[in-house]
Amino acid sequence: MKKLRKPIVAANWKMYKTVSEGKSFAAEFSWETSLAREVEVVICPPFTALQVVGDGLKGKGIKWGGQNLYPSAEGAFTGEISPLMLKDLGCTYVILGHSERRHLLGETDEFINQKVKVAFAHELLPIFCVGETLEQREDGKTEEVCRRQLEHGLAGVKGADLARMVIAYEPVWAIGTGVNASPEDAEKTIAFLRQVISEQWGQEAGEAVRIQYGGSVKPQNIKEFMSCANIDGVLVGGASLKADSFYEIVRGARRGSE
Ligand code: PEP
Repeated sequence: MKKLRKPIVAANWKMYKTVSEGKSFAAEFSWETSLAREVEVVICPPFTALQVVGDGLKGKGIKWGGQNLYPSAEGAFTGEISPLMLKDLGCTYVILGHSERRHLLGETDEFINQKVKVAFAHELLPIFCVGETLEQREDGKTEEVCRRQLEHGLAGVKGADLARMVIAYEPVWAIGTGVNASPEDAEKTIAFLRQVISEQWGQEAGEAVRIQYGGSVKPQNIKEFMSCANIDGVLVGGASLKADSFYEIVRGARRGSE
């Protein structure tokens, strides 16, 4: 089954990089077009750098995306960004439900669900994040929490749409800490998520949807994650900020390189 799913590696730059830094990254990022056939690569810069990064990557087979959106096409929503604006900048993807937005900005499953629906309505594909905190993990609630985030956050999404989007399993305690989940633990939870998707959205969606692992991925551990049957790629924060380490991660995500 896994062989049918193309690996996908996404960079989440969070609130890092100015316009000129984004431009330098796009220029420095070494790239063989043949790699785009093996791995789908998505870069999600801050909104201010989207244009320059998109311009710098055009024609290379690399995609780009937003890190958030507001669930409305336009309106009086000071400080927010609309799906139309992301589309206008050539975005293919949008990260939704990231733990920093859930925990630092108080986003609820219901609000994230509105964003997911609006993303699809504007032909943006969500990279939808789920993951448990350390406390929830220690209480043995990993599966319960991830199931709830999945079922509530994706309520009302059709199986065919779910099959096209990307899920990222990102344990909160592994994000930006340097402590990654073990590939065995990540595989176990990701297999569970795939099973939930098959049960709720149909087997076809469960087999087709790509599920990433995220949390302290680096060039040194990418191959271990990619060797797991249910892990189809990674969502990378810190190690995506340097062109050379991100390139190494992309190379390590090719099928057969593990
Ligand atoms: C993230 O921000 O989604 C992430 C996985 O960060 P890091 O790779 O730095 O842990």
